[in-house]
Amino acid sequence: MDTLYALPLFVEVAVPLPIDHPFTYRVPLGQQARAQVGVRVLVPFGRRKVTGLITALADGSSLGEREAREVLAFLDDEPYVSPAHLAFLSAAARECLAPLGEMLRAALPGGLPRREAPASPRTEMVYRAADSSPDASLTPKQRKVYAAVLGAGEISSPDLSALVPGGSEVARRLAAKGILAGSVREKSQPLSAPRLFDATGVLVPTSHQEAALARTGVAIASGGFAAFVLHGITGSGKTEVYLRAIEQARLTGRQTVYLVPEIALTPQLLGRVLTRFGEGAAVLHSGLTRAERAFQWRRIRAGEVFLCIGARSAVFSPFSSPGLFIVDEEHDSAYKQEEGVRYQARDLAVMRAKMEGAVVLLGSATPSAESIHLVRSGEATLLSLPERIGTRHLPSISVVDLKGQAARRGADRYFSPELEDAVEETLSRGEKAMLFLNRRGYAPALTCLDCGTTVQCRNCQVSLTYHKQDGALLCHYCSAKEVPPERCGVCGGHKVAQVGIGTERLVAWAAKRWKEARVARLDSDLGRKKGFYGEVLSRMQRGEVDILVGTQIIAKGHDFPEVTFVGVLLADQSLSFPDFRSAERTFQILTQVSGRAGRGDRPGTVIIQTLSPEHVCIRKAAEHDFHGFMEAELAERESLGYPPFGRMLLLRFWGPKLERIREVAESVAEALSRPLSEAGIRLLGPAPSPIARVKRKYRYQILLKIPPRFSVGAFFPEIFRPLRDIVKKAGVRMEADVDPYNLMV
Ligand code: ADP
Ligand code: ZN
Repeated sequence: MDTLYALPLFVEVAVPLPIDHPFTYRVPLGQQARAQVGVRVLVPFGRRKVTGLITALADGSSLGEREAREVLAFLDDEPYVSPAHLAFLSAAARECLAPLGEMLRAALPGGLPRREAPASPRTEMVYRAADSSPDASLTPKQRKVYAAVLGAGEISSPDLSALVPGGSEVARRLAAKGILAGSVREKSQPLSAPRLFDATGVLVPTSHQEAALARTGVAIASGGFAAFVLHGITGSGKTEVYLRAIEQARLTGRQTVYLVPEIALTPQLLGRVLTRFGEGAAVLHSGLTRAERAFQWRRIRAGEVFLCIGARSAVFSPFSSPGLFIVDEEHDSAYKQEEGVRYQARDLAVMRAKMEGAVVLLGSATPSAESIHLVRSGEATLLSLPERIGTRHLPSISVVDLKGQAARRGADRYFSPELEDAVEETLSRGEKAMLFLNRRGYAPALTCLDCGTTVQCRNCQVSLTYHKQDGALLCHYCSAKEVPPERCGVCGGHKVAQVGIGTERLVAWAAKRWKEARVARLDSDLGRKKGFYGEVLSRMQRGEVDILVGTQIIAKGHDFPEVTFVGVLLADQSLSFPDFRSAERTFQILTQVSGRAGRGDRPGTVIIQTLSPEHVCIRKAAEHDFHGFMEAELAERESLGYPPFGRMLLLRFWGPKLERIREVAESVAEALSRPLSEAGIRLLGPAPSPIARVKRKYRYQILLKIPPRFSVGAFFPEIFRPLRDIVKKAGVRMEADVDPYNLMV
């Protein structure tokens, strides 16, 4: 009854702890008017006080409520989380099998803070030319900076440094001399990206872009849910479609959430977005400080912006009426959150679009099997951009069988004569090359040549990677660091050899082979040093790198027109994973990395070196035949009942005692077997995880194969509840990963 709820006596509160259900609290007399859904409260919890969120109002008719403790304080006058947003977060928590409180903690800035972080935006210097004109005594560098400032009218110091290296320092000195005028302003975006020439007014959409935009325009205007898969080959103008669709949504008064896999890696894209939408855009990503995040969050919630661009967590942007969700590079596994609450941001974007009556646009040059399946089952409409913009063509790709190379020695065996010649020719024409190798470090293993023992991590069941730069062996799973041994720990032999090749060794090889060339490396080892990606990418942008060596980071959306050759050192690496997605991932990465070649006026070529030239994913990537690959891949998945033809749930168990974990996993499997078989769910395992020990914890897993469209959120919480106690009592941790991407640990 409405009258009752107008003055609630009790509230249900979600607390940010791993507990499956909300708790009931009594509303203090006289404070009923403050009890609203979405308001934060301070409540007693055991002997602690915690911040929680009101998820429902209650009338006290159920038994538990009589003993309820009292709310200590109401922290908001207006809902902190709007009812529509809370409904989305609750549904998301249900589908991910996560407690709502944990989902709130993952989705809201600073978790669920008692006090919001003060929204203090950073400041930055901006420069203009001063009234007086400079005298002739400027150095060439100063002249360059002056010209850049003059050209921009007004420019921030990070943007200036992006244009002219060291530019902000030079500008500071010019300002001291009165040649430039500097002032401080609040920074509305936490990341700076070079502002680019904006082609909005000039550029005429191609007929394919036009056709795609006609469809999205109608759907956005209709105000209902619609899903589109935008399949556009690399360089076909997808981004331009996104930017115009954002404009379409804005004209209907609705906001856009624009997801990208990893924002620090795409400064060019960010530059384009900010150039076009300026202050109308907020940026969210994992590198923000709490204050910066709170500031962006507030701009979104207050309706000051109509666009939020960000990494996966931006799917939680608190817009009041989002009308468009864009998922760029939707196939990218970066959309899967792999820690804490495990969610898939692409799937949540589709879910939220349904709840909000919005349009979702999933774009990629290599759409995922899941998205193509949506199209085939009529749940999404396919939009295609089958041609590159202008006269540019896709590069020609040749495949080289590396098996013939075994006779060559050392690192040479990773360079076929074909690859070597191609790099040589590229350099001699004054063009740039990229070499792709999906393994960082110098050598992936250190092996005793006498007894064959490979040095393993103390904490994990993996071999250690030799990193020359650190002079150490590093574990890529737990970050343990060890001094490389001089003798084998097992047989005492002295011949401990570096085996295999990583990006560090590749750089060394290339630098030795082409002494004149400027060689740079881009991989996540650099990410440990903040801002380094940006530095390498801007050197690349300025044409100061002749050979760029890197892991899959170099495959991501970059647009370097001078790159005409791409070499893939060893295409098989991702194929050898015991994972049903390994062929799809290999196809994607080969297509994406090939797409970096020939984006300018000159045509591109690609060489893929492999030990399995006959594999369908390699053949089809070389033929640019996405649909041919997907046909084969979907047929295979269907015959095995793998996603998207079924769902999966991975139960992980881990703890310090192997025996315990095995026992617990077995008793969980036994307890599940009846209800699961009644529901038509297959249970595989329990078995040790492929990497059975990580960070000193043993790992076991149970894999459930679930029929398609099965409602995981409606079925499992009930079944799991009693099991959680068994697991907890045994001192073992259990975690459910719905539709998992990582089956290794
Ligand atoms: P994608 O996102 O598919 O890789 P982009 O949107 O980055 O492709 O477009 C590739 C290049 O073509 C960009 O430099 C972009 O500015 C340009 N471009 C996009 N659409 C057009 C168009 N209709 N006319 C001319 N140039 C375009
Ligand atoms: Zn380790």
